[in-house]
Amino acid sequence: MLLDTKTERNIPKYNQLISKRRVAMAVGAGMLIVGALSNMFSWSYHNHIGVDYIEQCGRMDPILPEFNKSIKMIFESPDFKEKAISRLAGAIQIPTEVFDDNPSPSEDIEYYHEFFKLHDYLVNSFPLVSKHLKLEKVNEVNLLFTWEGKDKKLKPMMLTSHQDVVPVDPETVSQWTYPPFSGHYDASSDLIYGRGALDCKTLLVAQLAAIEQLIEDGFEPTRTVIVALGFDEETAGLHGARTMGKFLHERYGDNGIYSIVDEGSMVAEISKNVFIAAPVVQEKGYLDVNITVLGNGGHSSIPPEHTTIGVAAEIISSLENKPFKFEFSLENPFYGFLVCMAEHSNSLPTEFKKAIIEARFDEKERKKLVEFISQRPEMRELIRTSQAVDVFHGGMKANALPQVSTFLVNHRIDIQSSVQEVLESDLSVAREVAEKYGYGLYLADEEVIPCTDVGSITVTGYKPLEPSPYSPTGGSQVWDIFSGTIQNVFQNGLLRNNSEAEVYVTTNTISANSDTKHYWALTKNIYRFFGNVLPQGLWKTVHSVDETIPASAHLTSIAFVYEYIVNVQEGANEDSLP
Ligand SMILES: [Zn+2]
Repeated sequence: MLLDTKTERNIPKYNQLISKRRVAMAVGAGMLIVGALSNMFSWSYHNHIGVDYIEQCGRMDPILPEFNKSIKMIFESPDFKEKAISRLAGAIQIPTEVFDDNPSPSEDIEYYHEFFKLHDYLVNSFPLVSKHLKLEKVNEVNLLFTWEGKDKKLKPMMLTSHQDVVPVDPETVSQWTYPPFSGHYDASSDLIYGRGALDCKTLLVAQLAAIEQLIEDGFEPTRTVIVALGFDEETAGLHGARTMGKFLHERYGDNGIYSIVDEGSMVAEISKNVFIAAPVVQEKGYLDVNITVLGNGGHSSIPPEHTTIGVAAEIISSLENKPFKFEFSLENPFYGFLVCMAEHSNSLPTEFKKAIIEARFDEKERKKLVEFISQRPEMRELIRTSQAVDVFHGGMKANALPQVSTFLVNHRIDIQSSVQEVLESDLSVAREVAEKYGYGLYLADEEVIPCTDVGSITVTGYKPLEPSPYSPTGGSQVWDIFSGTIQNVFQNGLLRNNSEAEVYVTTNTISANSDTKHYWALTKNIYRFFGNVLPQGLWKTVHSVDETIPASAHLTSIAFVYEYIVNVQEGANEDSLP
């Protein structure tokens, strides 16, 4: 855990979000690293609360790789840009849609025919990757590229993303500015259109494009680099990342991977020239809860006072009237993002900013902060367990009493909570209603209250996933290299011509889950970050009409992957496979 709650009042000690240690790496004469070497950590110190402390939102030491042959070219060459756009567009043109309940490849391989087109396309579009990396198909449709390093003892580094896209609703096709699988590039806006442009083909193609370029540049890895591409992330990765995770675990063992970088957050410009990079270092958990009310059937002319639909409705309204409590903690990675907002955004009310900063040591301000967050729908689910009643079935006919009514509640579990806690909470709501109307109560098969003449209520949890572990930040060299790469890619790469630009790195969480939930055993160093800047408003096109990505953002992802691979190769401590 990042912060020990017992030391919350001990301000100078607890804020260790980002290591004060320098990244242990050779600083070559030719390096373009910006920043005084004597003062590698250019953190801002603040005195407005009377104590010196290191901010949770800071500028990292930018790390430019010693091997940096193509970085400038990636950002500046019109030819490279054209090639990058066309490679991404080609990938978008292959509609790798997955629908809910996608079959396993062994059940129905034909379902995945578009994916095999994508495989061929990638092999042909990245000839050097195809020549120099080993390609395996795990569970037929996952792609696993392995770029063998010279030192086989070192843990491989892993890049991941997914081949699948969410389906385009045929009803919405006419609303798209350009057809959803056109991959159309609009030069005037610099936008590439199409389903998957953002989620997730920009990252998938960038990962392969960066490696293609590194090979062309003559780079040879010491540490093995693997690229793992799942095929059903959008339906929870059950056939894709889950089988890939098992496969990699068998091959490399517990903790056998150096780090994993997956899709996640993008850099946000929160005020003019102020950019916040907040990789996701922890995800919420997940639970579907099914509640079934089983009662007596019969003719509707002689009904009971409450039918099973009425009883189910009462449980639903009790759930909705008692949402989960807000549980803000300084350990929440979202706090890092808030601190950045407080320090660098022009848009937050002063009171909100004060509450964020002073929440560290002032209980009253922490309460105020929770109040502020709770009033903002876009933020509030990051500090509590969410609940959404998404499915309801009950009743068949006007003159027949509904014998069974059933509904599903979807939960995204707060990072401080657990599957057990959420299930118990739903059970307690069901118990109140069961007792009120004299129903029996079951937790799955387990009897809580014996079944009665009236009927029974059954609460069952499905697809349980605990909140993810917290990926190391403070004191971790892996984090230092990752975040130092971010600082360099943006401050000295994308924003190189903007002397006003300020780039800060912090942490965040997310209310959904990526494929990495199947990779927890491989490493504790999991960072979810696209490596690009997303213009405001574009995020809402994800999974929606007019999904787009700016070509400049795609190029930045390529540069990010290029630099991250080399920085790890040049700077990481030697750590051997178990
Ligand atoms: Zn995705």
